Amino acid sequence: MIHAKQALLAEGWADNVRLTIDAGTILRIETDAAARTGDARVDTLLPSLGNLHSHAFQRAMAGMTEFRQAGRDSFWTWRDLMYRFMDRMTPEQIEAIAAQVYVEMLEAGFASVGEFHYVHHQPGGRPYDNPAELSERIFAAAAQTGIGLTHLPVLYTYGGAGQADLTAGQRRFGNDADSFARLTEHAASALRDLPPDARIGIAPHSLRAISPEDLARVVAAQGQGPIHIHIAEQPQEVRDIEAWLGARPVAWLLDNQPVDDRWCLIHATHMTDAETDALAASGAVAGLCPITEANLGDGPFNGPGYAAAGGRFGIGSDSNINISLTEELRTLEYSQRLRDTRRNVMIPAQGAVGAFLYTAAARGGAQALNRDAGVIETGRLADLVAIDSQTPALCALSGDGILDCLAFAAKDGVVTDVWAAGRHAVLNGRHPKREEIFAAYRKAVAQLIRD
Ligand code: ZN
Repeated sequence: MIHAKQALLAEGWADNVRLTIDAGTILRIETDAAARTGDARVDTLLPSLGNLHSHAFQRAMAGMTEFRQAGRDSFWTWRDLMYRFMDRMTPEQIEAIAAQVYVEMLEAGFASVGEFHYVHHQPGGRPYDNPAELSERIFAAAAQTGIGLTHLPVLYTYGGAGQADLTAGQRRFGNDADSFARLTEHAASALRDLPPDARIGIAPHSLRAISPEDLARVVAAQGQGPIHIHIAEQPQEVRDIEAWLGARPVAWLLDNQPVDDRWCLIHATHMTDAETDALAASGAVAGLCPITEANLGDGPFNGPGYAAAGGRFGIGSDSNINISLTEELRTLEYSQRLRDTRRNVMIPAQGAVGAFLYTAAARGGAQALNRDAGVIETGRLADLVAIDSQTPALCALSGDGILDCLAFAAKDGVVTDVWAAGRHAVLNGRHPKREEIFAAYRKAVAQLIRD
């Protein structure tokens, strides 16, 4: 049982809310209820956000690519460094890094994560005896931390648009549609050892890394699960796809695949107004990764047009350069303000911007991760976060104003508790295993840098 002084329920704010959780889902909600002995007592209870896009291993190289080299630094020079770093990682190191990342996500207030998992093979490209070896390392990290996992094994076949060969740095990613089918079968089977809220989907990496034929094949084989794809992150990628397939990436995908509410288009940064409207109308989620997109110099999302068209979106921490829920929300809105030289941009009509960003991202994240969550309602998964409304950043506000303050004025330290499908993973702002997980992470990173 959880007792909250106030909570944001599906129908709005309520006081003295008591939640009964059973088998990971919300069984009963009482309002104006007194706390009882044994209740976990919190201040303000919110639906938690799902972090819809993560490459866990990249956390270990955070800060290593922030120096300027001769020539022009770009997304593509960053990617080369990332490949070199990743090429030495062992399964044990990948597990230790992922566990650290998931503790940081939980403590920031994310109850679940979509792990867009593309390192599958040994250094050099030979598959492990178990094709899902590295998927299982991610599962172990999820099990250790309690985070809700949506596993998204990646199909990555080519080194660039037009079916170019993989480069040396990409060999650990490579699968064709057949070996990918074997990988997902093994991963789905191993996933059954995780709690029942764990999900699996697929992630065709991007239009530049696969063929249209394989994309059609893996999508047809997928059925109901989530389908995530990187798209239109960089202008060069838009030009390459246009030259190869005859259309801009988002337009091509919408014209050639049955894009609907199973889909999550990661970034979708460079869209025309027509693409923006069409993506919004599809029911798919735009997977926005504001901190990473700023760090990599991707560009700002077409926020005003997408919000006006009722487009769905969620938040991902992608490269994990900085894992912060509050920072993601404000970076999203500030990128819009800096481009448009005005305030309160990414909201459909009028209203509280922080509250809109938070509640829309909670719903969009849950949809993209195939979790029945994102609002507090009976029958939904108990993916919940509690914050302390009496901290200096929040104490002057009430109702939706709390969410505006959370997005623009607070830091993640206001998070006191997190439940992932009812698992109480953060208490008093801390994950119970944070010290041992951090010790293993520190050891793994020291090894990685030395080797
Ligand atoms: Zn990504």
